[in-house]
Amino acid sequence: MNRAYNFNAGPAALPFEVLQKANKEWLDIFNSGMSVMELSHRSKEYDAIHNKAHDLLRELLNIPDTYDILFLQGGASLQFTMIPMNLLSEGKSASYVLSGVWADKAFHEAKKLGNVMVAASSKEQGYSHIPLVHSIDSPEDVAYVHVTSNNTIYGTQWKIFPDTGDIPLIADMSSDILSKPLDITKFGLIYAGAQKNLGPSGVTVVIIRKDLIKTDLNHIPTMLQYKTHADNHSLYNTPPTLSIYLLSLVLEWVKNQGGVEAIEKLNEQKAALIYSTIDESEGFYQGHAKADSRSFMNVTFTLPNETLTKKFLEEAKKSGFIGLEGHRSIGGCRASIYNAVPLTHCEKLANFMVNFKKENFSLLISHEV
Ligand SMILES: *Cc1c(COP(=O)(O)O)cnc(C)c1O
Repeated sequence: MNRAYNFNAGPAALPFEVLQKANKEWLDIFNSGMSVMELSHRSKEYDAIHNKAHDLLRELLNIPDTYDILFLQGGASLQFTMIPMNLLSEGKSASYVLSGVWADKAFHEAKKLGNVMVAASSKEQGYSHIPLVHSIDSPEDVAYVHVTSNNTIYGTQWKIFPDTGDIPLIADMSSDILSKPLDITKFGLIYAGAQKNLGPSGVTVVIIRKDLIKTDLNHIPTMLQYKTHADNHSLYNTPPTLSIYLLSLVLEWVKNQGGVEAIEKLNEQKAALIYSTIDESEGFYQGHAKADSRSFMNVTFTLPNETLTKKFLEEAKKSGFIGLEGHRSIGGCRASIYNAVPLTHCEKLANFMVNFKKENFSLLISHEV
């Protein structure tokens, strides 16, 4: 069987070993005579899966006991709403760093629910870098600071998170969670839709510091309170059992790779391959992100003109590469190289880019393309 060279931005490539294991257990898990999807979410078999996912995530990211891990639905996008609903109290403001499309969406959802302000923004520069957060005015009035750790669409990533002191730092880590070690204690809340680095779509992981789970929010809908899910170990209602099962297999796979430290090394190698191809192309390929903000998860680049971009994407497709079109909002090209994308696939892409440049650079110089 030929695995596609899958550079999709999300849903994205899953580790082949995970798919094989799921395939093996597809019709009959734990000798139950049932598939995962047919298990009751109150059964001991499912309980083992649910706990395994929790425990492995806690272990891999070194999450202290002072934090709860929640498995929710509604994607990262519902967190844009749940966060201000639960954490933005009256009389306070929420401060957002605008670093891309998703950050902007999170900001606008919060705006519907309370006072918001902009901590920093790179919008004017086409979101080409991570903006600098200067000191925060009247911190006692700020409920939280929100950042997007990796900007999936523009291909930028935080290298050092801002120090927000006593103000809870909240991060949308949908597209880089589990790609490197993390100091959880710097954050009040971290959230991530699973479909980039954690598994299939359908489950959203929330890691929340327990003191931020408020108990006096009876005016907001039950399903939208963090407390509901924390009190019930994410089993208040039927969880997305199949997605959580696959999440547990992905976590097991990360552990078998040597954990997030080993994954990070590999991710650095993968990113270096493609960025060096861009940098050594005599300007044929141009990276969208400024060098100090480059994402190790989503590499965004353009070619000299639209004709060449189209040709590049067409030829890439013929050679078996999937998902290299840039997001519809910015165009150009994007290679998403999440944890599950093998180094060999990145090598194939780098080679393809080198050859494409070789074949087209002289045509460009002679104005033939
Ligand atoms: C993909 C993505 C989202 C949207 O996630 P959904 O699960 O589709 O709601 C939000 N934020 C970031 C950073 C993303 O990459």
